[in-house]
Amino acid sequence: GLPRPPVAPLAAPRRSRQLMVGPVPVGGGAPVSVQSMTTTPTADVNATLQQIAGLTAAGCQIVRVAVPSQDDADALPAIARKSRIPVIADIHFQPRYVFAAIDAGCAAVRVNPGNIKQFDDKVGQIARAASQAGVPIRIGVNAGSLDPRLLRKYGRVTPEALVESALWECSLFEEHDFRDIKISVKHNDPVVMVRAYRQLAEQCDYPLHLGVTEAGPAFQGTIKSAVAFGVLLAEGIGDTIRVSLSAPPVEEVKVGTQILESLGLRRRGLEIVSCPSCGRAQVDVYTLAEQVTAALDGFPVPLRVAVMGCVVNGPGEAREADLGVASGNGKGQIFVKGRVVATVPESRIVETLVAHAVQIAEELGVD
Ligand code: SF4
Repeated sequence: GLPRPPVAPLAAPRRSRQLMVGPVPVGGGAPVSVQSMTTTPTADVNATLQQIAGLTAAGCQIVRVAVPSQDDADALPAIARKSRIPVIADIHFQPRYVFAAIDAGCAAVRVNPGNIKQFDDKVGQIARAASQAGVPIRIGVNAGSLDPRLLRKYGRVTPEALVESALWECSLFEEHDFRDIKISVKHNDPVVMVRAYRQLAEQCDYPLHLGVTEAGPAFQGTIKSAVAFGVLLAEGIGDTIRVSLSAPPVEEVKVGTQILESLGLRRRGLEIVSCPSCGRAQVDVYTLAEQVTAALDGFPVPLRVAVMGCVVNGPGEAREADLGVASGNGKGQIFVKGRVVATVPESRIVETLVAHAVQIAEELGVD
């Protein structure tokens, strides 16, 4: 019966410190969280809040907003207050925006102390302000903005260079006894990125934010992120993830969620097990799978639904499914747990599946 027991994770999570991004725990064995970043000008409070609402509805747990100007910093109090999920302010060089973000009630700040070291004692002041407010800081090292000193030392952006840079940035806060830190070491090449995170995971106990930077358009970026995150998460490395796509941020959240579900790190929602179709298929499997997906979108019970193109192998192939259909001769055999319970004309397949899904939910006492 449902719900299925969760799949055992592929590896125990790496031991890391835990910090809180607002109400969301990160690290220390907490569930891996999904985050994204808004693409609206942060100063446009309404547009930004609208995009955050869309991300929240898609399952985003933490959202980051860029703060490149004073107008953006001025918008932070309203955004932090009205967002239903914790807001992280992303700041590059200006220490004053960091203080503004902390005062505004942002749940965390992304800033690299190396960039603000030249302003005397600003790192110490930030450490004190963040510590008093209980605001953690993400140190985000990116291949594109690696410290020139390390670029000279290593000749190019190597995993070692990324890790050395990140740990040096951490040391600037550690000097002020501030350790409420999470780290990212992003690179656009999944192989370099995986090596960097593996090394970092061994060399510190800070929680890690996974990301493949400039991963590309949706198709390529999805695969690069899935492969890189898959390798690391399967080794227990990674506490929060952000998929970067040149696509609307809601897509990033969907991909991130799917990655966690695929690895058994998050309970699956609706899962459609559809056959690839073959010469035996007697129905347009692609369209039918899409129709079933749309009809059961947001269904309150995590169902595994099989959509099979023929009756020869359909029910047998999908015995593990809760519910399914195998098509043949203009009809659909509807089955529950591999047993045929009804045969209906093709035009009624979707509604019949939905009716059985509702019945399963009722049997479980879920409205
Ligand atoms: Fe082919 Fe039938 Fe298998 Fe689909 S279920 S791949 S149509 S044999």
